Amino acid sequence: MLEALIVVMTVLAMEGVSILAHKYVMHGFGWAWHRSHHEPRRGWFELNDLYALVFAALAIALIAAGTAGAYPLQWIGAGMTLYGALYFIAHDGMVHRRWPLRYLPRRGYLKRLYQAHRLHHAVGGREGCVSFGFLYAPPVARLKRQLRRNESRPPSERQ
Ligand SMILES: [Zn+2]
Ligand SMILES: [Zn+2]
Repeated sequence: MLEALIVVMTVLAMEGVSILAHKYVMHGFGWAWHRSHHEPRRGWFELNDLYALVFAALAIALIAAGTAGAYPLQWIGAGMTLYGALYFIAHDGMVHRRWPLRYLPRRGYLKRLYQAHRLHHAVGGREGCVSFGFLYAPPVARLKRQLRRNESRPPSERQ
């Protein structure tokens, strides 16, 4: 029971970590890797996939440490792995269609998540983007307002 709680809490925490990392690292000094994700993809992979590999390596290290005795790190690693799977299904699969399965959500949470991430890619660059979450999405109307505001501002004042 405690282990299940750790896994769930880790998934929630990972979304928070991902929003911050996406906003301040990937759209900041880590843009060199992330840029590939904001450009048309050539082939199967993009440099941005290295971020997923870094998180996967971290999860493997935690699981190894936990099973070697450092309880409960393996459950944090399991939560990170679950988050990675959800990210892959929602972001890579549903939004970017990196697999042959096509699913376009027509209502509810998944539709909002889909539209919000489409709006993240609407700007076409590093500055002035909105919606940095992968599993959480702010209301689409708010994002559209934010995009309109950003367009009318100089880049230094955009958020
Ligand atoms: Zn981005
Ligand atoms: Zn994306």
